[in-house]
Amino acid sequence: MMLEKLNINMIITREIEVKILDINIEYYNNLGFEVYVGDVINIPIELLSSGSHYKILCKCDGCGCEKEVLFKNYLKYGNEFGVYYCRKCSEDKRKKTLKKNYGVEYPLQNIKILNKKNRKKE
Ligand SMILES: [Zn+2]
Repeated sequence: MMLEKLNINMIITREIEVKILDINIEYYNNLGFEVYVGDVINIPIELLSSGSHYKILCKCDGCGCEKEVLFKNYLKYGNEFGVYYCRKCSEDKRKKTLKKNYGVEYPLQNIKILNKKNRKKE
């Protein structure tokens, strides 16, 4: 995973404390963490599972306001990873960049594929 290529400037939370449970241990083991159920680890938010309910603090690229959002919801916004716009600014931006093509190099694609693989095993 090429984390250094990600622009995560507008996500203020860099690491999240995650508790290892039966339901997520495989995910973290697959990422290369040597963890056991009951462990608490700090992981960079880029490695959070895309269904995570953890809150991350973001700063709006437009007006600079700070807001806590659920990681899960953050991904739903469909911004490039690391970019955040508050509701008001994202409306403005959406109008301007309606035609923008995000293409196949979406940085979170790897993580999404990983999640799919995990699901198939269950
Ligand atoms: Zn804003």
